[in-house]
Amino acid sequence: GTTARAAPEAYDTQALQRLDSAHYLHPFTDHAQLRARGGARVMVRGDGIYLWDSDGKRVIDGMSGLWCVNVGYGRDSIADAMHRQATTLPFYNSFFNTTNVPAVRLAALLAELAPPQFRHVFFTTSGSEANDTVMRMVRRYWDVMGQPQRDVIVSRHNAYHGSTMAGASLGGMAGMHAQGGLPIPGIVHIGQPSYAEHGQGMSEAEFGIKAAGWLEEKILELGPGKVAAFIGEPVQGAGGVIIPPPTYWPEIGRICDKYGVLLVSDEVICGFGRLGRWFGCELMGATPDLISFAKGVTSGYVPLGGVLVAERVAQVLIEKGGDFNHGFTYSGHPVACAAALENIRILRDERLVERVAQETGPYLKAGFADLTSHPLVGHAETCGMVAGLDLVRRKGSSVHDGERFDPSLAVGMVCRGHMFDNGVIMRAVGERMIVAPPLVMTRAQIDEMLERIRFCLDLTHADLRARGWV
Ligand code: PMP
Repeated sequence: GTTARAAPEAYDTQALQRLDSAHYLHPFTDHAQLRARGGARVMVRGDGIYLWDSDGKRVIDGMSGLWCVNVGYGRDSIADAMHRQATTLPFYNSFFNTTNVPAVRLAALLAELAPPQFRHVFFTTSGSEANDTVMRMVRRYWDVMGQPQRDVIVSRHNAYHGSTMAGASLGGMAGMHAQGGLPIPGIVHIGQPSYAEHGQGMSEAEFGIKAAGWLEEKILELGPGKVAAFIGEPVQGAGGVIIPPPTYWPEIGRICDKYGVLLVSDEVICGFGRLGRWFGCELMGATPDLISFAKGVTSGYVPLGGVLVAERVAQVLIEKGGDFNHGFTYSGHPVACAAALENIRILRDERLVERVAQETGPYLKAGFADLTSHPLVGHAETCGMVAGLDLVRRKGSSVHDGERFDPSLAVGMVCRGHMFDNGVIMRAVGERMIVAPPLVMTRAQIDEMLERIRFCLDLTHADLRARGWV
C-alpha cells in the first residue's frame, strides 16, 4: 500500500498533556477531574484490537474506539481507498443536481445489504446528524401526508441518540437534559426495556410485552393521531448494554403498525455486524421504516452517518415532497463513502458478520457467563459482540436481589481505572462494566481479554476491600 508505516516516534507525553490541558476541550469530560488525575492518556497507534499510548504501553481496545472500529485498526486498504479518492476528487457536494461516484456506489450497496423495505439512503456525517435528519424527515413525511399534527416522537429513558439538540432530546439521558434546556418540544420518553430495572416478579417474556405496552399507553395518552414515530436502539449501548427480552421488539412493531406510527431503529452501534446481523433490527424481529447509522459503516476511519429510508416513506417524499430543505455540506462526502465501500468489502470478504453470529459472539457469551463466578460479578449478558456485567456488593439469586453498591462510591470508575492501567479498555456505566470489541477479535484474543478482565476484577476487589467497601 501507499501507507508504509513510519518508525515508532518518541513522544514527550507530559508536553502533550500540558498542551491538551491548555487548549483542548474534550467531549463529555469533567476537566477539573481530568487535570487532577494528571492529564489525558495520549493514544498514538492502533493495530487490530490493540492500541498503544505515547509511553509505548499496549492496551486491548475492548470498546472498538467508541463502538465503531468494527474491522480493527491498521487497515491499510481503507487508508489507500481514502487516499485514492482524496487525490481524485476530495470533495464535491450533492446539493445542486450533482452527485459523486463513491456516494452513488455506497447508496446502492447499502440498499443491497439493508432489509428489503429499504432502497434509499440520506447521508450525514455522524449519528447525531442522522437522528436530527430522522426527526425532520418523519415530520416532513407526515406534513406531506396531510397529517401535520402527527409531530410527536416517542423515545425511551436512558436511550442515547446523540449530542445535538435533537439527538440529545431524543436520547433519554437525565444528565444531558439537565443542561441547555432539553428536551426540545415534541419528544416524549417511556421506560426502557430493562428487565433488571423494571421486571421484578415477571418472566423476561412477560416483561418484554409489558415494556412494549408502555408505547401503546403513551400513544393513547397523547392521542393516536399525534404520534409521528417511535425511535429505539435494538440494544441500548451507552445506556449500559441493555438487551431487551425477545418479546419486546415484535410487540413494538405490532403497536406501531396498529397506530400507523413510523418505527425508527437507531443502528449507530448495532449496525454493520455488531450483533451478528448487518442490522440489529434483523436479530430483534423488527421491521423499521427508518434506520439511522454511523460508526461501523466506516469502522470510524473517517466520519460518516446516514438514514436508510423505507420505500413507504421515501416514495412519498420523492413523489409529493418537493424540496426537503435539509442537508449537510458533507452529505455523501466522497472520501468517507470510499472508506465505507472498502470497510464493507472487508466485513463481507472476511465474513465478519457471520463470524460474530456463529463463532465469536457465542464464545464471548460463554466467557462472560464464566466471569459470574467472580465474587464481584452479579450478572453478565452478551448479544453478538457487546457485553455487560454488573459489579455487586453481594450476589443474589437473580438480577433482582443481591446487594448493589452505593452509586456515590463510583465503583464502576474504580474498576475502569484498574482496567485502563492494566491493559484493557472497558467502559463503566454506573456499576455496569461493558465491552464492544472489534469484530475481528479472535477466540484466542477473547481469552486474552477475559484473562485481563479477571485479573483487573481481582485488583478492583482488593482495592474495594482496602477501602472497606466490600
Ligand atoms: N445513536 C447511538 C445509538 C449512539 O450510540 C451514538 C453515539 N454513541 C449516536 C447516536 C450519536 O452518534 P455521533 O456521536 O456520531 O453523533
